Amino acid sequence: FMSVGQAGSNVSFLLPNLIDSRISFRRIGEILEQQPDVPEAAQPAELPATFAGIRMERVSFGYTEDNLQLKDVSLHIKPGTYVAFVGPSGSGKSTALQLLSRFYDPKDGIVAIGEHDLRTVSEFSLRSLATLVTQETFLFHATIRDNLLLDNKGVTEADMIEAAKQARIHDIIAGWPEGYDTWIHHEGGSLSGGERQRIAIARALLRRPQLLLLDEVTSALDPATEADINQLLRRIRGHRTIVSVTHRLASVVDADTIYVFQDGRIVESGAHPELLQLQGLYKSLWEKQHGFHLSEDGRRATVDV
Ligand code: ADP
Ligand code: MG
Repeated sequence: FMSVGQAGSNVSFLLPNLIDSRISFRRIGEILEQQPDVPEAAQPAELPATFAGIRMERVSFGYTEDNLQLKDVSLHIKPGTYVAFVGPSGSGKSTALQLLSRFYDPKDGIVAIGEHDLRTVSEFSLRSLATLVTQETFLFHATIRDNLLLDNKGVTEADMIEAAKQARIHDIIAGWPEGYDTWIHHEGGSLSGGERQRIAIARALLRRPQLLLLDEVTSALDPATEADINQLLRRIRGHRTIVSVTHRLASVVDADTIYVFQDGRIVESGAHPELLQLQGLYKSLWEKQHGFHLSEDGRRATVDV
C-alpha cells in the first residue's frame, strides 16, 4: 500500500472527484493500493503471518525495453534485520525497492518472500506485510487525522498520537489550533518537506508492517530530526525488517548488511567494517562524504582541505 508517494502520481487525476468525500477513505486506500502495471495471479497465495524474509535472485529489470536499470541483482534480507542500500544517484536503489514491493515485476529472475514468488502472492497479503515510504508523500484534501489513518481500521487515537510522536510530528500537529482535525489543503502544499516526510513515517508506522521499505526518508529533515528518526529505526529494528535507501552513510554504519549499488548492479555487500576493508566504491563514497581519506586499517588518515 504505502507507496502513497509512488501511487500518488497515478491517482492525482482522480482527486477532484474525491475532494470533500471523507466517506470514501476506504476507497482511497483501494486506489492507492492499485498496481496497474502488475497483474494479480488468478489464484493468489496468502503469505504466512510471520515474515520469512525477502530475496531477489538474479533480477534484471528495465522501465523500457532498451535499457536495464537492474542487472543480475541478488540479495537476501533476513527477518528482523536492518539493511541499507547505498550507491551513487541513478544506480538503481529506488528501483530495487519498487521491485521488493512489487510495483513492477522483474524481466528476469525472481523476487520472493520465503518460498512465495511475489507474482503468485495476493496483493492484499503483500500490502499488509510490506510498506514502502518514498520521498513524495501523498496528502489528501482531508484532515490530518484522516491523512494519517486512511482506511486503517482498528487504530486508536492513542496509537495515532504515539506514531506521530515517534515520527516527531506530534508536537507540530498539536501546535495547530485544530490539532489533528486541521484540514490539509492543496495536497499539503503549506507543509514543509520535512513535515510531509514525518507524516509519511507516522502513517507507515500505523500500519505496523513487518517489512518497512524506506526511500531517502530523512533527506528533507534537519540534522536533529534526522537523528531522532534514526534513533526510532534503531528502536524498532529487530521487531521489523527495515530496508533503507539512503545517501547518508553515517546512518548505515550499524546496518546488518549494506548493499552497494552501481549502474544497476550490486558491486559490494557486507557490514560497514567489511566494506571499508574492500577498498572499493563504499570506501570512496565514505571518504568523499566525510572529507577525509581512510588508511588501510580504517583509521582517519589525511584530511582534504
Ligand atoms: P537511485 O534510487 O539509485 O538514485 P533509481 O532506481 O531511481 O536510482 O534510478 C535508476 C535509473 O532508472 C536511473 O537512470 C533513472 O533515471 C531510471 N528511472 C527511474 N525511474 C524511472 C521511470 N519511472 N522510468 C524510466 N526510467 C526510470
Ligand atoms: Mg532513489
